[in-house]
Amino acid sequence: MKRFPGAVLLSVTLPLWCGCGAGASSDRPDPVERLMATSESALDRARGEDVWEVAICRIPIGATDPLYAELDDRMEYGADEIVEQLAPVSEYYERWSGGRYTVRFVPAAADVSVLTTETSQQCVDRALGQSSPNAQGVLVVSDAQHAEGAEGGRGGPGTSCDDDCSATLTRRYVYVGASDFMSVWEGVPPLDLIEHELGHGLDWPHSSLSAESLDGVVYDSPYDLMSNSAASRETDATLRHGPGILVVNLLAAGWIDPERVVRWWPDEDSRVIDIVSRSRLSSSESIAVAVPIDGTTFASVELVEATGDDAFHDGDFVLVHRIEVVGAAGFDRRQYLVSGELREGEEWSGDGFTVRVLTMGDGRARIEFSEDA
Ligand SMILES: [Zn+2]
Repeated sequence: MKRFPGAVLLSVTLPLWCGCGAGASSDRPDPVERLMATSESALDRARGEDVWEVAICRIPIGATDPLYAELDDRMEYGADEIVEQLAPVSEYYERWSGGRYTVRFVPAAADVSVLTTETSQQCVDRALGQSSPNAQGVLVVSDAQHAEGAEGGRGGPGTSCDDDCSATLTRRYVYVGASDFMSVWEGVPPLDLIEHELGHGLDWPHSSLSAESLDGVVYDSPYDLMSNSAASRETDATLRHGPGILVVNLLAAGWIDPERVVRWWPDEDSRVIDIVSRSRLSSSESIAVAVPIDGTTFASVELVEATGDDAFHDGDFVLVHRIEVVGAAGFDRRQYLVSGELREGEEWSGDGFTVRVLTMGDGRARIEFSEDA
């Protein structure tokens, strides 16, 4: 799933980060501060109401864009019916933002279409061109299914904006094929692809189960909406939502207070830190631990609780991701898993330190951090 270039890094002044621990010093470069600086342009969009205009793109039979399957059937819904079917997507984002972010879908005034020889992008351009000034994003659903092996959709944050963030100006859009809205789903479509693409609309990058997968453009992680978004329904076909969202993205969106991410520097004394599960958005307790590795890289340690959108997992576990804050925009960030699923009593070592899960239960984990000898 591709993303078009967009966000420009704004020059920002951030409050000094509290190291909050023995040996911590505020004058060494903190990769989490860098994360927050590269996320600045997406913060406004991730707060309050975000209006997405839904436009149907009518694709003629015999369209030559190789993106489309050579099939004669077409999706029958209009934009107002798609808007109704997407109500649970707004609920998903309400849950994961702790009520800080509301996606409001509204139907476009008219469908858009292309000629047989035109492309999906021309349809997107038409939908952007006709969109209302209130719309900060345009969600284009084509009525034709994509060819086998083609991308399911694409999305991005568009260009950064200050006062006027109309999609007509920023070109912020999500585009998907018709597959999830064909009659076979009986009006109860899978929602994970749209949820994933809207994540790109907030400038979130992909993640993978390893650096190799990430380099190979293989999004294989069942732990992140921005990786294998279909992981839930691959486990249970009745499920519709994507998995939960990595704490690093929740932090970048401004949905958790940065103070809930505890910093532990590897040259500190060993320390035991309690965190709650990443789904506890409305709590004020610590939700993750960031271990700085260098000025741009940190390990992010979080707890996945097998409940809600993560209920398809087999029990609770702790994960360690390596986060490399590179480039100027959120999408440039590299995020991949370095541990396995860490259960009670298990540990992971890397980058000169060890993470040991002492106890776990009831959506909480007690974790010990120590420098390797
Ligand atoms: Zn994607």
